[in-house]
Amino acid sequence: MVNLTAKELYANLTPEQKADNRAYAREWLANRTSEQKAVKVAYTREWRANRTPEQKAADADKHRDERRRRKHLIRTNGALNGDVFTLLEIYERDEWVCQICSEPVDPDATGPLGASHDHLIPLTRGGTHTPENIQLAHQSCNSSKGNR
Ligand SMILES: [Zn+2]
Repeated sequence: MVNLTAKELYANLTPEQKADNRAYAREWLANRTSEQKAVKVAYTREWRANRTPEQKAADADKHRDERRRRKHLIRTNGALNGDVFTLLEIYERDEWVCQICSEPVDPDATGPLGASHDHLIPLTRGGTHTPENIQLAHQSCNSSKGNR
């Protein structure tokens, strides 16, 4: 018995199975009770609250640097065809399913389970900040992917 990672499993799915997954996720998201939503929100809140002041400061620093770096890359590699798009459009296109682990992404979540945009070809490798090169991923999935 081979233990496949979620990503490997996902890669083995047929387009039909992926479509099934999405339909399931959409239904799952639509059918959540407010209690289920509250659990997710509480989890994220706790995760944030449990960081030490040092961690928070380090996170803030890291994020500031990261934002600056990405802004620069986006300006350099950005949408050359003048396409205007919002990340929300990308997320809706991907139907709120993480394209890395194929689990649903909660639109209200922040922190590791929150939505983030993943560049298929990293900006650092010449990928562009265009819809074709962007997919929805959990923040945790996105950051664990690293700069392949
Ligand atoms: Zn994910």
